[in-house]
Amino acid sequence: MKLRQSNIDRLSAADYDVLIIGGGINGAVSAAALAGKGAKVALIDRGDFAGCTSMHSSNLAWGGIKYMETYEFALVRKLCLSRNHLIRNYPSTVQEIRFLTTITKGFRYDPRYLWAGAWLYWSIGNCFTRIPKLLSASAIAREEPIIDVSHSVGGFEYSDAYLHDNDARFVFNFVRSALSSGCVAANYVESLGARRVDGVWVTRARDTVAGETFEIRSRVLINAAGPFVDEHNALTGQKTEHRHALSKGIHLIVDRLTSSHRVLAFFADDGRLFFVIPMGPRTCIGTTDTRVESPHVHATDEDIKFVLDNINKRLKLKTALTRQDIIATRCGVRPLAVRAQGGGDRDFLQLSRKHALDVNFADAHISIFGGKLTDCLNVGNEVCDNVASMGIDIPHPDYKWYGEPPAAIRDEFFHQAELMKLDGYTAPHASEPLSTRLWRRYGAQAIGLLENIREDPGQAQILIEGTEYLRCEIRQAARREMVTKLEDFLRRRSKIALVVRRESIRRAPGLMEACRLLFGDQAQQKFDEYFAQKHAMADVDSAADTAEPISGTAAADNPAHSGALNW
Ligand SMILES: Cc1cc2nc3c(=O)[nH]c(=O)nc-3n(C[C@H](O)[C@H](O)[C@H](O)COP(=O)(O)OP(=O)(O)OC[C@H]3O[C@@H](n4cnc5c(N)ncnc54)[C@H](O)[C@@H]3O)c2cc1C
Repeated sequence: MKLRQSNIDRLSAADYDVLIIGGGINGAVSAAALAGKGAKVALIDRGDFAGCTSMHSSNLAWGGIKYMETYEFALVRKLCLSRNHLIRNYPSTVQEIRFLTTITKGFRYDPRYLWAGAWLYWSIGNCFTRIPKLLSASAIAREEPIIDVSHSVGGFEYSDAYLHDNDARFVFNFVRSALSSGCVAANYVESLGARRVDGVWVTRARDTVAGETFEIRSRVLINAAGPFVDEHNALTGQKTEHRHALSKGIHLIVDRLTSSHRVLAFFADDGRLFFVIPMGPRTCIGTTDTRVESPHVHATDEDIKFVLDNINKRLKLKTALTRQDIIATRCGVRPLAVRAQGGGDRDFLQLSRKHALDVNFADAHISIFGGKLTDCLNVGNEVCDNVASMGIDIPHPDYKWYGEPPAAIRDEFFHQAELMKLDGYTAPHASEPLSTRLWRRYGAQAIGLLENIREDPGQAQILIEGTEYLRCEIRQAARREMVTKLEDFLRRRSKIALVVRRESIRRAPGLMEACRLLFGDQAQQKFDEYFAQKHAMADVDSAADTAEPISGTAAADNPAHSGALNW
C-alpha cells in the first residue's frame, strides 16, 4: 500500500513527459517501453492493472490461424512473428503448445483444404514451431480418448503458444518493469478527463479508494483505455480516424478434463473455432464472439449454455458438464479497431484484429485502438517512435525494454537455488520444481526471495493452504505489487480465484495471515470486502459452497486435484 500512496503523492507533484490512461496490456507495454528508454512517465488505471479486458483473454500468444479464412495473410504473418518473438524473449512464460483440431463430417471445408491451411500457417510463421501432424479419427481417439470421434473425419495438430501464468500476471510484469525504470504508476486512479493548457495536458484524476481528486500535468497524453478509448476521447474532445466495435467473449473454468498438455480445438455450431485450454489443475473452455454495444458485460445464461452444449457435444465425458461444474467464468469485450466512418458494418466476425494508433501531433495525443496480447511488443515500440516524433527526448532509444533477464542472472539464480536445495521446499503436488516457478514469476527479483528463505526458512512455507504461494512471495507482493484489494492478489497477481472455488478460498487456512501481510490493520476489512462482493459466478455458488478446500491430501483421487497444482 505504501508504494501506491507514495506514487499518488508524486503524480501531482511533478510534470511528466507522458501520462498513460489505462493499465491493460496496451498501457502497460507503453509504460514499460517509454520508461525503459528514459522518458518521464506516469500511468493510471481506474481499476486494477489488467482489471478489464486483459484478464479475460484466452491466454494464448497466437498467429491467428482463423484469420486465414478471411485471407488476412499479412496480419497472420505479423502475429506469427510477434508470437515467435515472445517465445524467444520469454522462454519460461510464453511457451509453444500443440493444438489438436478435430474436423466433423460435412464441415464447410474439405479436410485436405484445412490440412493445407495448417502447413501454410506453419510456413507463414517461418517454420518456427514443430511441424503440423495429420491425424485419423482413430488416432485422435487413441491420443485423446475424451474426444467423441463418431462424427469426425480426423484432424490435425499444429503449434501456437500460451501464457504459462495468467494474462493478468503477464501484463502486471510490464507494469512492474515500468516501475523499476522510474515510471510513477497507480491503480484505482481514474481520469475524469483532460484539457490542454498552454501546450500541456492537465488531467483531472480521482483516487477511487480515498475519493480525492487532483491534477496530473504531462506533455503527451496516451489513451490506452481499451474498450473505453472512445469514451475517454469524448472527454478530451479528440476526433479519431478509428473507433471501437466491441465483441463479447466468455470462458468457463472447470476441473481438468484431460491430462495431456495440449489445446483441443473444435469448430462450434456457429462455425467458429473454440478451445479446451489447459490451466494447471483446471481446464478453460471458450470462447464466444458476440457483438455488444456496451463494454459492461457479464456471462449470460445463453452464453454459458452455448459453451456447455458445444463442449458436451464434442467430448465423451462420463457425465456431461453442467453449470454446477463451473469454478469460475471469464467474460470480457474485445475492443476491435474499425474506421470511424462506417467501418463496423462489415460482417462482424470478420472484423480485423489489427491494432491502430491514432496520433494527433498537434495536440500531442495518442489513442491505441484494438490489438492483442500477442502483438504487445510492437505496440510498445510504435508508441515510443510516435512519442519521440512529438519532440519528447528519449535518452536511451536502443534500450531493450522487454524480455527475461540475461542468462548470467538466470544461471546465478539457479546456482544459488541449488546450493540451498530450494527445490526440497516444492509443494508435494506441484507440477514443477519451486525454482522454476519462482524464476518464471519474478525473474531477477527471485534472487531476493532466496535471500529471505536463507534468513528464515519459515518464509518458504506455503501460506494459503491449497495454493503454492509461499510466505515470502506474499511479503514481496505486499511491497512491490501494489495489491490494493484482495481481488488484485487472488485474481490477477495470482490465479488462485480462477482455479480454487470461492468457498474453499474463504476457508483456506492462512488466508487471514496473507491478508495481514498484504494489508496490515485493514486485513479484516479487505477480507470482508472481497467476500461481500457479488461474485461473477454467484449463480453457481451453491456448487462452490459444497466444495472441499484443496489441500495436499484432499481429493487425491480427483484428477483435477492430484496431478499438478500450478497456479
Ligand atoms: C474473450 C477474449 C479472448 C481473447 N484472447 C486473446 C488471446 O488469446 N490472445 C491475445 O493476444 N489476445 C486475446 N484477446 C485480446 C486481448 O485480450 C485484448 O486485445 C487486450 O487485452 C486489450 O488490452 P487493452 O490494454 O487495450 O484494454 P484493457 O485491458 O481493457 O485495459 C484498458 C484499461 O483502461 C482502464 N480505464 C478505462 N477508462 C479509464 C479512465 N477513465 N481512467 C483510468 N483508467 C481507465 C480500464 O480500467 C482498463 O484496465 C482476447 C480478448 C477477449 C475479450
